[in-house]
Amino acid sequence: MSATDLTSGPEAGVISDAAASAALMDLPEDDSGCPVMLRNAPSTVEFKKLRKRLLREVRQAIDDYGMVPADAAVKRPKWLVCLSGGKDSYTLLAVLMDLKWRGLLPVDLLACNLDQAQPGFPPEILPAFFEKNGIENIIVREDTFSIVTSKIPAHKTYCSLCSRLRRGILYRIAREQGCEAIVLGHHREDILETFFMNLFHGGRLASMPPKLVNDEGDLMVLRPLAYCAESDVAKFAAGMQFPIIPCNLCGSQDGLQREEVKRMLMDWERASPGRLGVMARALAHTRPSHLLDRSLFDFASLRPGENNGGEARDAEEPCGAGLAMTRNLFAAE
Ligand code: SF4
Repeated sequence: MSATDLTSGPEAGVISDAAASAALMDLPEDDSGCPVMLRNAPSTVEFKKLRKRLLREVRQAIDDYGMVPADAAVKRPKWLVCLSGGKDSYTLLAVLMDLKWRGLLPVDLLACNLDQAQPGFPPEILPAFFEKNGIENIIVREDTFSIVTSKIPAHKTYCSLCSRLRRGILYRIAREQGCEAIVLGHHREDILETFFMNLFHGGRLASMPPKLVNDEGDLMVLRPLAYCAESDVAKFAAGMQFPIIPCNLCGSQDGLQREEVKRMLMDWERASPGRLGVMARALAHTRPSHLLDRSLFDFASLRPGENNGGEARDAEEPCGAGLAMTRNLFAAE
C-alpha cells in the first residue's frame, strides 16, 4: 500500500476490519507522504513493531469505546489534543496523526498546549515543534500557577486545584474551537494507578475511564492510550526524540501516595511480568454479582432459580488453614 493509498483510504467506522488491519500492518517503505512529525521515525524492525503495536492498541480503544461517532465521515468531529510537552502527550498526538494518515481516524485534530505559567516552563519549545512539523495548534497561557500557590499552603500538594483549573480552561478552549472532545495522554499505568489510589485511599472502585462526558454534558474526555503500556510510550517518545519538557516544574506532585502505588505496581510487574496487563484487562471485566455493590446488582431479589448475573460459580474461598497462614504472615511482619 502506498502512502497515497493510505491518505485517501476509507475511514474508521466504515472501513472493514480486514482493510484496517492491512492499513495498520502495512507500513509503507516510502513514507515521504506521511505527516512531517513521523518522517524521521526510526526504521528498525523493533521500532516498527512498537509503532504498529501502539497504532493497533489505540485504534482498538477508539473502537471499543465508540470514541468516533458513526456519522464521523459526514459530520467530521474535531478533537482538541492536549499536549503538556511530556512523553505521553507527544506520543498520543503522533499515534493519532499516524492513524489519520492511514485513513483510520476521520477526525480533525487540533493540538493544544495550556501554558500554566509554572516557573521554568520553556514557552518556545512547543510552538517551535508545532511549526517545524506543520501541526495545527493553539497555545493558551493562563497563570493558574499564581492562583494555586496563593490559595494552597506551601506544604500541601497543588494538584487537586491545579487540575480542576486546567480542566475548566481546556473545556473553554474546546468550546471556542468547535471541538467535541478533549483528548488526553493517560496510558494503562495511569489508569491502574488511579484505580489503586481510589481503592486504597478513596474507598471506591473507580479509575479514569477511556471515555467520559463532562458535567455540563457538552464535551467528551477521551483517553485513546488507555490500552498502551507506559514502557511502550516511553520507548516510542525516546525513539522519536520528542523535545520533552520536564513534568516537575510546578514543584508539586500528587504526594507520596501516588508514588507508593506506582512503585507497588512496578514491583509487581518485575516479580510477575504481565501482571499489569492482567489487571488492566480485569478493569474491563467486572462481575457486579460477585462484588458488594447493591446499587449495581439486586441481591435482595436473588432467589433460588434466579440468574446470578451470568455467573453462578462462587469465588474460591480460602479454607481455615489458608486464613491461618495469612494471619501468621501478617503477624510475622
Ligand atoms: S503536578 Fe503540578 S502541574 Fe501537575 S497537576 Fe500537580 S500541581 Fe498541577
